[in-house]
Amino acid sequence: MTDAPVIRRTLPSGPWTIVAPKRSTRPQPAAKPSEDPTHCHFCPGSEHETEPEVYALRAADTKPDSPGWRIRVVPNKFPALVSDAGDPGRPQSLYSEIGAIGIHEVIIETPDHDRALAEMRPDEIADVLAVYRARLQAASRRRYVRSVAVFRNEGRAAGASQLHAHAQLVGLPIVPARLQAEIDAAVDYRRRRKRCVSCDAIKRELKKGSGVIAENAEFVAFACFSPRFPYETWILPKAHHHDFRLVPLKHLCALADVLGAVLKALRAALDPFPYNLVLQTAPVQMSIRAQGAFHWRLEVVPRLTTGSGFELGSGVFIVSLSPEDAARRLREAIAEHREAKRVRR
Ligand SMILES: [Zn+2]
Ligand SMILES: [Zn+2]
Repeated sequence: MTDAPVIRRTLPSGPWTIVAPKRSTRPQPAAKPSEDPTHCHFCPGSEHETEPEVYALRAADTKPDSPGWRIRVVPNKFPALVSDAGDPGRPQSLYSEIGAIGIHEVIIETPDHDRALAEMRPDEIADVLAVYRARLQAASRRRYVRSVAVFRNEGRAAGASQLHAHAQLVGLPIVPARLQAEIDAAVDYRRRRKRCVSCDAIKRELKKGSGVIAENAEFVAFACFSPRFPYETWILPKAHHHDFRLVPLKHLCALADVLGAVLKALRAALDPFPYNLVLQTAPVQMSIRAQGAFHWRLEVVPRLTTGSGFELGSGVFIVSLSPEDAARRLREAIAEHREAKRVRR
């Protein structure tokens, strides 16, 4: 077999795997942020060490691939998918193998090597979210891309191979099984109840209150009722909305407020705080029926524990902290942060 990556699925509707032999040459995570800051490929001055940039927020008088940027997007140097290898082919029901044709980008979120997303101001987080949205829109326009995953890994336990704050975007020629199963279940719920299942969940959370961590007029963050990992937090728009690509700028600012508060609270409650941020949004094409049933969300998933054979085999997770207790601790952390800010003023 060649080194070209492929996407495989053994059984119908089972999980997909990208087999990408070249990925094994990518750098391994450094131990500490302070270990070798001069050799970070993502820092200003090292632009030539990445692939040429495809998008950036940068000062008007600066050139691509030079310093002067606030956020910079580059193709992943060790992509899990390739963009220029033609038609991926059609999935089969059994022993399916198609070409891993798609897009794999890195979004470098700040020029400051030591600045975590949790430390950024809401307006800086809003800029980061606006770049996610812009790249999602661009990836969706690519031929063969059927769904786009935007995620960030922070900390070694969460799979980060670079310490400098960054997110990744993967445009896939398939719709992942987990997303498709959720869409199918949401469509079924809506057919029976005439409502969106996530809108109903939000109503229930706001009424109950014990799981709510932060909210404003547009967004609510609550502890996931059945978390895979302790402190798993979901952030959803309060009004029904299926697609992150269509979120207006004003709402990105409101989302940045809630996301910033959640990340700061998690950092205060957990030390260290390795986590994944995952955007669950509509695939590139979606029927009107599915648009009315599916509701996009951000998942913030701290990675304090790793799964065992039980989780791997059954898909059933065990957490030792109740989501209600997690939410209470995070609400307290937010209140303390507000109080500290008030005293400093
Ligand atoms: Zn750096
Ligand atoms: Zn909804």
